Amino acid sequence: MRICDLGVRVEHSELSPRIEQLYNELAARGVSLRPDCYLGDEWFSPEGVPAISIPFYLAHPRLKALELHQMLEVEGGTADWCQMLLRHECGHAIDHAYRFSSRDDWREIFGSPEAEYAPETYTPRPYSKSFVRHLPNWYAQAHPDEDFAETFAVWLTFAPEDWRQRYHGWKALEKLDYVHKLMSEVAGNSPSITRGRRISEARKLRTTLARHYTGRRKLYAEDFPDFYDADLRAIFENGEPGGEPAATMMRRHRGALITSLVQWTGQRKYTVSMLVRKLMLRCRALKLTTPKDPVLLYFELASYLASLVTNHLYTGRFKRSV
Ligand SMILES: [Zn+2]
Repeated sequence: MRICDLGVRVEHSELSPRIEQLYNELAARGVSLRPDCYLGDEWFSPEGVPAISIPFYLAHPRLKALELHQMLEVEGGTADWCQMLLRHECGHAIDHAYRFSSRDDWREIFGSPEAEYAPETYTPRPYSKSFVRHLPNWYAQAHPDEDFAETFAVWLTFAPEDWRQRYHGWKALEKLDYVHKLMSEVAGNSPSITRGRRISEARKLRTTLARHYTGRRKLYAEDFPDFYDADLRAIFENGEPGGEPAATMMRRHRGALITSLVQWTGQRKYTVSMLVRKLMLRCRALKLTTPKDPVLLYFELASYLASLVTNHLYTGRFKRSV
């Protein structure tokens, strides 16, 4: 079926009260902008437009189930996750509405928005206190625009006394103070830009669901380089001849392994799952077996996989942008 023929709408879906909540939060902080929220093909705010594209699959339980089946996770599928993403995208939308990022003081605080935009190649410093933490993977460090969106999201989430306490002693507090100043400056002022083109609007997408998912699965199925064989041999070096095949052991623990990897690396489940699958196939081809006492092996394998995923995240082979 074509996406435009699905007939999905924000109204009467679970998204409606969540957008309402976003609007209420904006009202409570004295912000007059109400970004146009529409169904698109993924989470983003169109360049220069004060709008938020919410992926269409969130508008219907059956589409959410399909997304889960195809991509193994549903980005923004829970109430809290959805609200976090809405606040983040709202940061971009408000920047577009008031053109904040063209101001000199904005650039002094966040850097030049003309910086190379490559959210898939940034190298975060996990302990940096110069950036707020809202979405996973230290996403504020991806680009000045993301830094602003994340800072705005934190500003919107917490009352001023709460974010002041939470970020006490952090350099990021300067950014929060600046956002606070910006927002009081424009409080009650309507933005110069209020509307714009809805990019990738779901009701105009003529591609079919099948083609849409083939494309996305291809995008997130990273092509991991084939340097694992030597590593796998080292990890399974104490395997007993005739012991349980390594691939069988991995299949048995696959669920737990993938769950913890996703939790601690912040990587997409589909990508992690494909990596584990690929390693299982290599283990089978190499006829690796497990030792009698596998506890050490479990730790080693999990650490190895976590480092693979993390290295790829830092070195830019993963595509992750919001
Ligand atoms: Zn963003």
